[in-house]
Amino acid sequence: MCESDVSDPPTASPTPSAPPAAPGSAGTPPSPHATSTTERGSFCLARCVCGWSGPARRSRDLARTDAAAHALNP
Ligand SMILES: [Zn+2]
Repeated sequence: MCESDVSDPPTASPTPSAPPAAPGSAGTPPSPHATSTTERGSFCLARCVCGWSGPARRSRDLARTDAAAHALNP
């Protein structure tokens, strides 16, 4: 009797979700050289995850300087 006019809804393609979040990390750039200082006896030397190690220093400040210099210029 009554024809049910089932009109197909327009096939709306699913809109892509939110775009990939851009890494807007403002600040210090990620340095692949994570340095740290380690004490060896009465000396202190800088070490890096890349395997680099600075000369033994009597001052931890100098070791940190070595580490910073290496992080800048590996
Ligand atoms: Zn390194």
